[in-house]
Amino acid sequence: MKRLCSAAALAAGVAMLATPAAAQGTAERLYVMECGQGAVPDLSRWSPGVNVGVKTEYVTNCYLVRHAKGWLLWETGAGDDLINVPEGRGSFTRWRLKRTLASQLAEIGVKPDDIAFIAASHTHFDHIGNVNLFPKSMLLMQKAEYQWPLPKGGPRFNPAHPVTQLDGDHDVFGDGSAVLLATPGHTPGHQSFLLRLKNTGPIVFTGDAAHFRENYEFRRVPSFNTNREQSLQSMERIAAIVANTRAQLWIHHDKPQADQQKKSPAFYD
Ligand SMILES: [Zn+2]
Repeated sequence: MKRLCSAAALAAGVAMLATPAAAQGTAERLYVMECGQGAVPDLSRWSPGVNVGVKTEYVTNCYLVRHAKGWLLWETGAGDDLINVPEGRGSFTRWRLKRTLASQLAEIGVKPDDIAFIAASHTHFDHIGNVNLFPKSMLLMQKAEYQWPLPKGGPRFNPAHPVTQLDGDHDVFGDGSAVLLATPGHTPGHQSFLLRLKNTGPIVFTGDAAHFRENYEFRRVPSFNTNREQSLQSMERIAAIVANTRAQLWIHHDKPQADQQKKSPAFYD
């Protein structure tokens, strides 16, 4: 029965696919900014029973999109304050920072207040570390994530921050060029992101729906995800979107892949 339910949910998820972008506008530019370097002492936390005791390094990047209607920042990184903590911070991953997001924005002449929209895949600290750098930017988060209480209670964001709480996919500029995709499972209101660029073509950003290429290919679900079944459905949904749109798949924490990407001030168009 359980199997039937998940198969039905899977079919529904795949059916939703045709929707994330009827219109196919394009954004103008994409800048990749480095927003944290992590050292992991035991990779098996992200793949139970596999890679036990294996150390690795990974990254968290921020992605700045220029669209004719304004700027959008996808993911905000581990937090610029880490620049003052050379020994790093965090237990399961030790995060360090070599350059602040603020300095990378300044380098291309963008002020935080210029950014109309910010969106993070979810509320783990290596994704929302810099949200408060952008007090005037509209925060686009899934309602289930925004309203997910912290373990000790209380809100995950400053309640004064402007926010649009989403209930499913969201076409940010209304032309299909930048679409937030509901992909719950890693956390209750996790989202991924589809971006269309004229020359580069479409890119799907996983967020933490998958952390590493190998985990995506083998559909490995981290031990700490909030819902394993949803996590698997979300990976299938992403795979279907990638197949439908012929998008590149950018896996958020995959360092070998990120190392190949050009970094700001260079950009994709
Ligand atoms: Zn996460």
